Amino acid sequence: MSLQGWGRYRNYDSEVLECLLPRSVRTMVSSGAGLIARGNGRSYGDAAVGEITTLMCGGLSRMKAFDPGTGILTVEGGTLLSDILQAFIPRGYFPPVVPGTKFVTVGGMIAADVHGKNHHQVGGFGDHVTQLKLVVASGELVTCSRTENPELFLATIGGMGLTGVIVEASFKMRPIETGWILQKTTVAQDLGGALKVLQATDELTYSVAWIDCLATGKSMGRSLIFTGEHATREQVTSRMPQAKFFPATMEPKLSLPFDFPAWILNRASVSAFNEMYFRAGARKAGPPSLVHWNPYFFPLDGIHRWNRLYGKRGFLQHQCVVPEGNALAVLGEMLERFVRSGKGSFLAVLKKLGRGGGLISFPTSGYTLALDLPATADVFPLLEEIDKIVVHAGGRLYLAKDARQSRQTFEAGYPQLSAFKELRRVTGADRRFRSHLSTRLGI
Ligand SMILES: Cc1cc2nc3c(=O)[nH]c(=O)nc-3n(C[C@H](O)[C@H](O)[C@H](O)COP(=O)(O)OP(=O)(O)OC[C@H]3O[C@@H](n4cnc5c(N)ncnc54)[C@H](O)[C@@H]3O)c2cc1C
Repeated sequence: MSLQGWGRYRNYDSEVLECLLPRSVRTMVSSGAGLIARGNGRSYGDAAVGEITTLMCGGLSRMKAFDPGTGILTVEGGTLLSDILQAFIPRGYFPPVVPGTKFVTVGGMIAADVHGKNHHQVGGFGDHVTQLKLVVASGELVTCSRTENPELFLATIGGMGLTGVIVEASFKMRPIETGWILQKTTVAQDLGGALKVLQATDELTYSVAWIDCLATGKSMGRSLIFTGEHATREQVTSRMPQAKFFPATMEPKLSLPFDFPAWILNRASVSAFNEMYFRAGARKAGPPSLVHWNPYFFPLDGIHRWNRLYGKRGFLQHQCVVPEGNALAVLGEMLERFVRSGKGSFLAVLKKLGRGGGLISFPTSGYTLALDLPATADVFPLLEEIDKIVVHAGGRLYLAKDARQSRQTFEAGYPQLSAFKELRRVTGADRRFRSHLSTRLGI
């Protein structure tokens, strides 16, 4: 079967096996090689495509147990975040961490140790996982946690499926009073201003900045910063007396029916979009207002198959994190290169991250910048230049978004890589679990 990542930049041929029960996963693993688990295929590049065989885990989707006393939810690895939200928001619980789309599986969230808009406060999704059941290279089912097989546990969080197949996971949900978010929009006129606002909102639960990466001169890095808190019942009643405390889930209303032609996204169209978006956002700045949880956390999910916007050639997302100390200079240099190249993106996001969780988890204290770019030939040398800036600053790139970084860039960014590789060697995972990403980067 031909498989792609969300960026649709390359097609890979892979044998595909459907996983429906944990015990069938054990048989598939013990009799296969060059395997990797795939959740919902929302990683952008080649992480979820097996070198030989891809194990489709979407069938492992049963919710097994929930303890309202502790908030601990146990689900199978292929359970979709969207299903968890639908079942638990009306019960007054929210996942501890959510990425920018709800169409991901729990196995995928753990394997990428995904970060949300609250990473600076609560860490990654992996920080809230209490236990995992993993099918390892021998085909055995191994339970691991911070106290039981802790090395395997910490390698699996952020380990991109390269230690085994997560068939079950337990994690702690957080109680919420309503399904509304009290959102505040703040305008920053340049990059320095955006970093100051993100720094100043450190005490708030959620924060993220949309950054206009084509603005030039004094406006370079101008941003809209969206902060948010789960609204209390009192806040909802006083602002919207008729509103339900737990509004229904919103399904995507629009769908891109075909691949857009390549010429649609160019400097002029992206600049015009950015100008419009910035002005519209700036008009909403001021006192906080209530927003449904769905558009606050998952704005892109409103358009089904939005990845067709970039046409058949696909797109790349460049997401890096750089240490806080010299972030202004480093991010400034990166933005300047993007502006100069005219390769700006309409989707550029800046977030503050806290410390990392797993052995090769992406997050580390600093600022993360993510940009989508069409996969045209001239984008590759530009991104290599940007990678050099990241490496020089002591930063790294996110594996879940990567389709092209070099081995040197990767190795420079992940200081615990040798411990991760050693664990793979000792457990036999290096021979059994291999994705196109792991082969490309020599993991
Ligand atoms: C619109 C959009 C917004 C996003 N926003 C964010 C964000 O804000 N923060 C963030 O951190 N990420 C973000 N992401 C990335 C996304 O959260 C991750 O790529 C996530 O891993 C995707 O989950 P998935 O189930 O689709 O996994 P896949 O893409 O199918 O797989 C991703 C990795 O997980 C492994 N894996 C999947 N299932 C299992 C399993 N059962 N056992 C073992 N390994 C497994 C795969 O081998 C692969 O290495 C975003 C992606 C999109 C498309």
